[in-house]
Amino acid sequence: MQAQITAHQLRTIAGPQFVRGEAYWRQGRVLECVVGNGVIDGVVSGSFEYRVRVWSSAGRLLSSCTCPVGTGMCKHAVALVLFYLGDRAELPPPEPITGAFATRAELEAFVAEHHVMHVMPLTADILCAELTIPPGAPPFRR
Ligand SMILES: [Zn+2]
Repeated sequence: MQAQITAHQLRTIAGPQFVRGEAYWRQGRVLECVVGNGVIDGVVSGSFEYRVRVWSSAGRLLSSCTCPVGTGMCKHAVALVLFYLGDRAELPPPEPITGAFATRAELEAFVAEHHVMHVMPLTADILCAELTIPPGAPPFRR
């Protein structure tokens, strides 16, 4: 296993799984981590306890896990590598939350692109107003 792997590289490889894996690592979900013969073997606790193996081949970080994701750097593999890196992880600051919209214009562009204009009236403001039970209202019935 190459010692020069950094958390930054791992973030690039793992993509959206990185944040989830980092959380797992911070929550102490890595139960076992054994390094040898160029691989990291570990057990990571998620919905179940998953066996994870991470290794490097031709400069690429590869992983295998008994979780449904299987290969391709699942959150368990990310957690295991971060555990391996330990204090050397030197984690960069978290990236901005993806999937949120900074402006109304961004939201509208997304909605138009994905043809989901019809859900726009279901914004939280409108739903919250409609879900508020007026004083003196009869009990909810189906
Ligand atoms: Zn996994």
